[in-house]
Amino acid sequence: MCRHASWLGVPRTLASLIHEPVHGLLRQSYTPRLQRHGTINADGFGMGWYDAARAEPVRYRRTIPAWTDANLAGLARIARSGCMLAAVRSASAGMPVEETATAPFTDGSWLLSHNGRVAREAVRGLADDAESSCDSAWLAAAVFLRRRAGDSLGEAVAEIVTRAGLKDPRARLNLLACDGTSVAATAWGDTLFVRLDGHPLDGVFVASEPLDDLPGWQAVPDHTLVLASPDGVRVQPL
Ligand code: GLN
Repeated sequence: MCRHASWLGVPRTLASLIHEPVHGLLRQSYTPRLQRHGTINADGFGMGWYDAARAEPVRYRRTIPAWTDANLAGLARIARSGCMLAAVRSASAGMPVEETATAPFTDGSWLLSHNGRVAREAVRGLADDAESSCDSAWLAAAVFLRRRAGDSLGEAVAEIVTRAGLKDPRARLNLLACDGTSVAATAWGDTLFVRLDGHPLDGVFVASEPLDDLPGWQAVPDHTLVLASPDGVRVQPL
């Protein structure tokens, strides 16, 4: 089970997800605290963020452990955005370790990460093709197909998670997606936490597990969709 995290709010650096918090994604790549499947996340990592200069996000993904990328800290210190997402990966058994299998996946303005595992037969029917044979790449392709059909981010994520969950009742389907102005995430078989930051509010973190020990991290119940936008955070059952 991988770990992922996002920020939506006032612009911050990627380091605020990865390096700065005491249990940020760098630390979670070798010592996650709440991970139920797998012990470390050393099969790659990725991040995506938005810049005013273009509608599509910037993406960076590697197949090496986050702690071995000597350029990551410098990049994360200057890459700054009001909407961003990062993930560290522990490949599920049988899944390829390659960049195209590594989150975040992207299509147009959307970015998507998957924590979990799903039978590939359950998702292959939901999309035409995927950039990797990895289950997560197929899930991403299925969500992106809904994007092209006109769904909102929350609609697409909820639709694909419930359809894949029906086809594979043992699936773990924690998705985290964003489009530059909103974040949609599901708790479906693994942990998910939300933290509103700042007084007055600066923004919201959504993450597999708390990035630090500050008060305010709220566990999201299983089988739930979280929607964060500038209007606030909504949580609804799936
Ligand atoms: N199944 C996905 C993969 O192989 C996600 C793995 C995970 O959440 N650990 O990459």
